[in-house]
Amino acid sequence: MPDIPSICCYCGCGCGLYLHVEHGRVTGVSPSRSHPVSRNNLCVKGWHVHEYIHHSDRLTRPLIRQHDRLRPASWDDALDLIAEKLTAVKEQYGSDRIGVLSSAKCSNEENYLLQKFTRISLGTNNIDHCARL
Ligand code: SF4
Repeated sequence: MPDIPSICCYCGCGCGLYLHVEHGRVTGVSPSRSHPVSRNNLCVKGWHVHEYIHHSDRLTRPLIRQHDRLRPASWDDALDLIAEKLTAVKEQYGSDRIGVLSSAKCSNEENYLLQKFTRISLGTNNIDHCARL
């Protein structure tokens, strides 16, 4: 399979890279020579940006804490619980008691949607991104 052009998601620089894919799995990255931001460079984080994709520790389904233990749950159950808890905090304390942290491991589109959800549905501007920490 040909290398796939992409963008490093670990910080706001947005360095260009190629994903190496073998048998449906991302096995490595290399910098994009022609990318205007990075010009054939990646920092040490960028060289390892693909490693979480297939990591065995990666969560693949929601977990709900119950009696100090985490139990696997369906997405519907997890989202219902989140909606219930966020609504309760919003009604009791107000929107600005809620804060949302986004992730560099999400796509730009997912992060865009999360800030829209935070500002419009939750009614707060308390949103930040892990890459700024
Ligand atoms: S390669 Fe390094 S500097 Fe470039 S976007 Fe990734 S983390 Fe940021």
